[in-house]
Amino acid sequence: MTRILIKHAAVINSEKREIHGADILTENGIIARIAPEIRCEPTKTIDAGGLFLAPGLTDMHVHLRDPGQTHKEDIFTGCEAAAAGGFTAVAAMPNTSPVCDGPDTVRYILEKAKMAKARVYPVAAVTKGMRGAELTDFAALKAAGAAAFSDDGRPVASAALMLKAMKTAAELNMPLLSHCEDDTLSGGALMNEGEVSKELGVKGYPAAAEDAVIAREIALSAASGYPVHICHVSTATGAALIRDAKRRGIRVTAETAPHYFTLTDRELLTKNADRRMSPPLRTRVDRDAIITALIDGTIDAIATDHAPHTPEEKSDFMSAPNGVIGLETAFALAYTKLVLPGHIDIWRLIELMSLNPRKLLRLDPGIIREGVPADITLFDRDERWTADKTRFRSKARNTPFDGMRLTGKIKYTVCRGEIVFEDTP
Ligand SMILES: [Zn+2]
Ligand SMILES: [Zn+2]
Repeated sequence: MTRILIKHAAVINSEKREIHGADILTENGIIARIAPEIRCEPTKTIDAGGLFLAPGLTDMHVHLRDPGQTHKEDIFTGCEAAAAGGFTAVAAMPNTSPVCDGPDTVRYILEKAKMAKARVYPVAAVTKGMRGAELTDFAALKAAGAAAFSDDGRPVASAALMLKAMKTAAELNMPLLSHCEDDTLSGGALMNEGEVSKELGVKGYPAAAEDAVIAREIALSAASGYPVHICHVSTATGAALIRDAKRRGIRVTAETAPHYFTLTDRELLTKNADRRMSPPLRTRVDRDAIITALIDGTIDAIATDHAPHTPEEKSDFMSAPNGVIGLETAFALAYTKLVLPGHIDIWRLIELMSLNPRKLLRLDPGIIREGVPADITLFDRDERWTADKTRFRSKARNTPFDGMRLTGKIKYTVCRGEIVFEDTP
């Protein structure tokens, strides 16, 4: 029986919106005691003096590439990267080989994840083979342990099929996550359509390709009353559409990723494929609108869209696949780019990176109190460090943040009552 005694932590209590110094004892994977001073004989003691203790971060959008593309990442390495980033839970997208569109693949992921350093919530495909033609068996996938449905990586092109998917998911009380892209506008694009794409002479992915489908999902939800979640919002218009929909009581929720509130399409001037993803980095106006949407509650969650590829696959700017990794830099980027400049406070950060994604995935609330699972993140909010891709736990190196100076460092991650990450200099 592992008993971890965490001494002198600054415990973030989101329920009471207070931070108080306390010791925490974990036993059998559960937070057994929280008290000003605990004396006992633990298996392991963490001296958390000066560290903040938060509920384990939760990333509702990652690609673990397992089964079938384990040269890019696998469930173990992806979860190691998650643990190093302070995440104790991740939702794994279904665009694997085979596509996660049947109960066997869901069970394979859950079985392998038992031995991994983070909890994995499989997202099953909306359509068979993600071909956009025929719905998967939502009830059977849920029974096998799927946590949500999405065809992420591509859109569900048919509005009629999307509406049917929203209805079926709602009846099962399951989240439906939409990758919004009209590929008749974005097909073959390498980056955002704008001044930079013109300067480089490459095909652009217009914001309208994303906005048109966000508008469609909102219209479907407004007409039917079924909820829908919008993945990786990157545009000012997309954020405005979601803000308006929420004001009118439409059941739409949304996430964005750290690269959209940090970088712009000017990063592509160097023709580095590690800065290419879908949707692409947009303009400064879009980036600022995403920050505003994070501040005012339009966007509910920060998710990484961690999308590993090999250096070989990413070597050529023109032919490289889309996607960047993000698990090991997300917390520090959010802290550095959102909390330090005063855009949001620490409560909102925990809401965006832990409480809200948990709510959206229908998980337990993730409040630190006695009797809940010992899924904990400890961080030093003052520590400055430089993102160094050679030190990542992920198999992949395709980060746009290599060499960036960051503030806020994950020091320990505890998942199921075990220390799954410890920061060593
Ligand atoms: Zn996507
Ligand atoms: Zn994705």
